[in-house]
Amino acid sequence: MEIAIIAHDGMKADMVQFLNNNLEFLRNPKINLIATGTTGSKAEKLGLKITKFLSGPKGGDAQIAARVAEGKTQMVIFFKDPMSSHPHEPDINMLIRICDVHDVPLATNDATAQLLFEAIANKL
Ligand code: PGA
Repeated sequence: MEIAIIAHDGMKADMVQFLNNNLEFLRNPKINLIATGTTGSKAEKLGLKITKFLSGPKGGDAQIAARVAEGKTQMVIFFKDPMSSHPHEPDINMLIRICDVHDVPLATNDATAQLLFEAIANKL
């Protein structure tokens, strides 16, 4: 199962905390982690193996949206910063729309992400 991880700058500390709380789950060899560039680097510092794409503002969100559309990514954890605006807002909205089009689970906050992980933990 491929899971994409993305966090805006204002949410990266929350993402690191979330990943840290779920390290055992994320180390499952059946999980293939992918991420936007900077988020991926943070995850690597936790010892996680992760495939990094471009940074979000450089097209990383769009790359991940393409993988969702192609059926390669089955879940997206996207800690959007609700308190700031972003130059790549069109890409962000595109990723959210593509998840809806393809009925792919998308968590945009910690509480939902935790529920998604718990929902699949025993099914992998
Ligand atoms: P980043 O991209 O992980 O490269 O910071 C995330 C984003 O801003 O969409």
